[in-house]
Amino acid sequence: MIEVETGAGCKACSIAPLDDELVRSLAYQMDLMPSEQVSREEYERRISLCAQCSSFMPRYTCLMNGAIVHILALKKKNCCPHPDKKW
Ligand code: SF4
Repeated sequence: MIEVETGAGCKACSIAPLDDELVRSLAYQMDLMPSEQVSREEYERRISLCAQCSSFMPRYTCLMNGAIVHILALKKKNCCPHPDKKW
């Protein structure tokens, strides 16, 4: 699991922390095939960039589109919604 700095955030997130297993479970529920998922290295690169982004709301939300960054970053065809396209 990638650790990111935490702060005031969604109450649901604080009681149901995401970890790799939960992200994979969510991907499964979204019918996301392994071939549709980025590599582990690319996933970690994306999450690391999110963790440094001013639009990242700890612990999991992208303020640009309201998505859970772990799910957003997992899917190959997704891209960062920031105007600077951080990944
Ligand atoms: S704008 Fe991009 S880099 Fe920033 S939190 Fe959202 S997805 Fe991550």
